[in-house]
Amino acid sequence: MASTSTTPDEPQEESTEEESALETARRQLQHAADHLDIDQHIVDRLKHPKKVHEVTVPIEREDGDVEVYTGYRAQHDSVRGPFKGGLRYHPEVTREECVGLSMWMTWKCGVMDIPFGGAKGGIAVNPKDLSNDEKEQLTRRFTDEIRAVIGPTKDIPAPDMGTDPQTMAWLMDAYSMQEGETIPGVVTGKPPIVGGSKGRDGAPGRSVAIIAREAIDYYDKDIEETDVAIQGYGSVGSNAARLLDDWGTNVVAVSDVNGGVYDANGLDTHSIPSHHEVPEAVMGHETPETVSNGELLELDVDVVIPAAIGNVLTADNGDDVAADIVIEGANGPTTTAASSIFAERDIPVVPDILANAGGVTVSYFEWLQDINRRSWSLERVNDELETEMLAAWSHVREEFEARDVTWRDAAYIVALSRIAEAHEARGLWP
Ligand code: GLU
Repeated sequence: MASTSTTPDEPQEESTEEESALETARRQLQHAADHLDIDQHIVDRLKHPKKVHEVTVPIEREDGDVEVYTGYRAQHDSVRGPFKGGLRYHPEVTREECVGLSMWMTWKCGVMDIPFGGAKGGIAVNPKDLSNDEKEQLTRRFTDEIRAVIGPTKDIPAPDMGTDPQTMAWLMDAYSMQEGETIPGVVTGKPPIVGGSKGRDGAPGRSVAIIAREAIDYYDKDIEETDVAIQGYGSVGSNAARLLDDWGTNVVAVSDVNGGVYDANGLDTHSIPSHHEVPEAVMGHETPETVSNGELLELDVDVVIPAAIGNVLTADNGDDVAADIVIEGANGPTTTAASSIFAERDIPVVPDILANAGGVTVSYFEWLQDINRRSWSLERVNDELETEMLAAWSHVREEFEARDVTWRDAAYIVALSRIAEAHEARGLWP
């Protein structure tokens, strides 16, 4: 049951005994490979990124000082198409984290059967410390520093933590100005007026909701009787919450960085402003009870969806999670230790690389629209997303049932089989 808390409880980046994103990504890869008959040389290649670019990004701050930031672009694998993945502005961005996250993008595109490889980049900066103009300068300079290694057929960035459609518009403009022509396909997640796709913003949350709906059905729960708690009310959390609410589930708790609101009878999710609409407004919503972010994850609900940051389900709280199903909305919310606890406790965890893959899927649609110079209606985007998500869900479900593995292993097996087959077909050269 929810207890009340007035103390802000920001989900913490964790924890002493936990692995880095790269260690986790490598361990997950080897784990999936152990189930498959894949040449170990291919697996060994996939444990390393193809290239990692590290650049210095100096900008002149508004007080006249010059500040120097470090930016990265990790390009993991491109066997099936251009590198693809987000760009993160966050103080804790490191080279190693970008590499780990770029590997996850490879699997995400693999599980969705999208002809892209995996990349991730970022700048070690707290975007909240920068003015809008400073963010623009930072983005333009970073774009220029990595200009030679990105492009619509090489590597296509997208929004991630701390970046948004405006950031992508600056990137597209800086790249296009230097290339001497307008090239919308260099980046996805742009505003629709400059070639962005309708529905891209809401896509990760929509895919989380679709996968949650399928999982609810798979585990024989009645959607109308299902209680859901969602950590995070940004783009992923708020869109997932509202769709699940529209489809009849009881969304009993949602939270932002300051904590969460709880109503056993279900919240009116549409009346709670998302982070994008009004930042950090969740706690301002009138409800019978409030919960801390930690308490939200332990609520006695049917489905819990961590949709904020990584490493929130850990060895410390894995035994206290009371939900029957975990759907990963954020990238990497469950540590390896927590995954083992959930496996032992028979709590299914549907992984990020499947659940939130709507983002990169609609990025792919956006890239197609940019190449064809023809935009799709929102209805078409959402219909095609639904089709792709159901296809991916059903491939993963087949592996889950056939091999008696976790949902995460099943998703990795689907992704890795495709990537390994492509490497096998192309071979190693020279
Ligand atoms: N940053 C998003 C992710 O982690 C989207 C990547 C993309 O659209 O390329 O999936």
